[in-house]
Parts: sequence; C-alpha cells; structure tokens
Amino acid sequence: MSMTNQREEPAGLSASMLSLDEVRQVVGDSNITRADVDAGQQGENVRRNVSLFRPRDVRAVIRPGSVQEIQAIVRIFHGNNPPAGLHAISTGRNWGLGSAEPATDDVVTVDLGRMNSVRRVDCDAGYAVIEPGVTQLCLAEALDGTNRMLNVTASSGHTSVIGNALERGVGLRRQRTEDLLGLEIVLPDGELARVGWWPEQTKRTAANPYGLGPSLLHLFTQSNLGIVAAAVVSLLPRPESQRVLRLKFPCARRCRRAVF
Ligand SMILES: Cc1cc2nc3c(=O)[nH]c(=O)nc-3n(C[C@H](O)[C@H](O)[C@H](O)COP(=O)(O)OP(=O)(O)OC[C@H]3O[C@@H](n4cnc5c(N)ncnc54)[C@H](O)[C@@H]3O)c2cc1C
Repeated sequence: MSMTNQREEPAGLSASMLSLDEVRQVVGDSNITRADVDAGQQGENVRRNVSLFRPRDVRAVIRPGSVQEIQAIVRIFHGNNPPAGLHAISTGRNWGLGSAEPATDDVVTVDLGRMNSVRRVDCDAGYAVIEPGVTQLCLAEALDGTNRMLNVTASSGHTSVIGNALERGVGLRRQRTEDLLGLEIVLPDGELARVGWWPEQTKRTAANPYGLGPSLLHLFTQSNLGIVAAAVVSLLPRPESQRVLRLKFPCARRCRRAVF
C-alpha cells in the first residue's frame, strides 16, 4: 500500500493540462503561463488579488490576441471530457469583488487584455465598437474633442469598458448595462455569434439593443454562457458646459455648542 498526501487531480483537470500543450501552439510561448511549469510567473494583474478573498487555484493564464485564437482555445477545451472550466477576464481589475480571481478553483483564466482595439467610432450615430482590453481611459481619450463622451465609472481609467458592463457595473451617468447595444460572443462550442444591435455596412439603422421579440443581449451579462470578444457601446452626447455646485452643511452638534 502506498500513501500520498497529494491531492487527487479531477479527471477534467488532467484533460485541461493536456489541452494546454495544444493551446501553446495557438497563442505562442509568451502568451501562456502554466502553474505547473512556470511557477511564480503568473501575469501581474491576474495574481494581484486586492479583494482579500482566498486566492483560487488557477492552473494557467492564456492571453489570446484575436477572436480566432479565442475560438481555437474554446474548441480545444470543449473537446475535453469532462469539459474543463475557463474563466474570462477583460482587464482583471474587478477590485473589491474578487479582482481577477475566478469563483471556483481549478480553472484556466483567459485574459483578454491583449485584445485592445477600438474597431470603430461613430460620433454622429453615437456608438463605438470595442474589444475587451479597451480601457475607459483609452476610449475616453479617443473621444477627446468630439461631441460624444463615455459613461465612465469612478474606478481606475485602466479598467475595461466591456468587463465592467458585463458585471453590470455602475457608471457615473447611468448603469453600464444601459450602454450595451450589441455583443460578439464565442459560444462554448467555439461558434461566433452576435446579439443585440450591430451597425450595418451598407445602410444606417437606429441603434436599438432589444430588436424584435425576446432579446438575447442580457443572457451574456453576469453569466458564463460565452466569452465576449467585442461589444457595441453607446456614447453619450457631451454637454457644452458643466458646472459643479459644492454645498457645505454645518455639523449639527457644533451648531448647538455655538449656541450655548
Ligand atoms: C476605488 C474604487 C472605485 C470603484 N468604482 C466603481 C464604480 O464606480 N462602478 C463600478 O461598477 N465599479 C467600481 N469599482 C469596482 C471595479 O474596479 C470595477 O467594476 C472594474 O471595472 C472591474 O474590473 P474590470 O473592468 O477589469 O473587469 P474584469 O475584472 O476584467 O471583469 C469582471 C468580470 O466580468 C466577467 N468578464 C469580463 N470580461 C469578460 C469577457 N470578455 N467575456 C465574458 N465574461 C467576462 C468575468 O466574470 C470577470 O471576472 C471600483 C473599485 C475601486 C477600488
């Protein structure tokens, strides 16, 4: 009889470690960090857990650079039996709410920070098509000097517009979910789908996120039904001027003291 104090690896997990060899072929050596072979080198963001929750057991961090790479990764993991868990993050700065940590142990993180292209901005129609790694600072700078502005949050400029909206974050002007017009998603079998409103190449259509009939848009906010590869976000009209009114109220106790 042999005794070991090593934890037994779940079947899906061993399968996922084999899949990582295939994933390395897709994203290249510099865009995958494995807990088993690259100990201590996990992505700076991914390991910086400022939420004071228990760090989860993240088996690897994969950093795809294109929609096609996300699809290839999902297809590789979809082939596992049982399937292994993937956790997508956009910039991983979900501070106070888990940072970049997944909800469970033994998953592989898909860090989309390299996908940071602003695909299109249309200030007349009031929308931008962006990828997950686009930060609110980056999009706000792209809109500088235009008649449109982004509904920013009070968090860091280096947080993701898409990551925050998918987690139903709170903007300074309105709920971030109200900014979402359309989503491009890689589904669990690797298929690429678009839901909500997307601009058409040949004609201008009204930006209506709900479309006709049941809307699929919010199936993908606060859910794990797919990896979001891009989104159409609505832009607010920029006011010609803004005034900040500062009000100061005297402390009630100090007032009483002043009286007596
Ligand atoms: C001082 C301070 C102020 C803050 N102010 C605000 C505020 O005003 N409003 C607010 O909402 N939050 C605020 N936060 C919280 C947090 O910093 C933000 O919500 C931040 O935007 C979340 O991090 P992120 O954008 O990097 O998202 P990520 O960490 O990248 O994503 C968050 C989660 O969304 C899901 N997800 C992300 N991307 C994808 C994808 N492409 N596909 C599928 N699922 C995905 C994952 O479950 C992920 O864990 C604040 C935090 C601090 C410390």
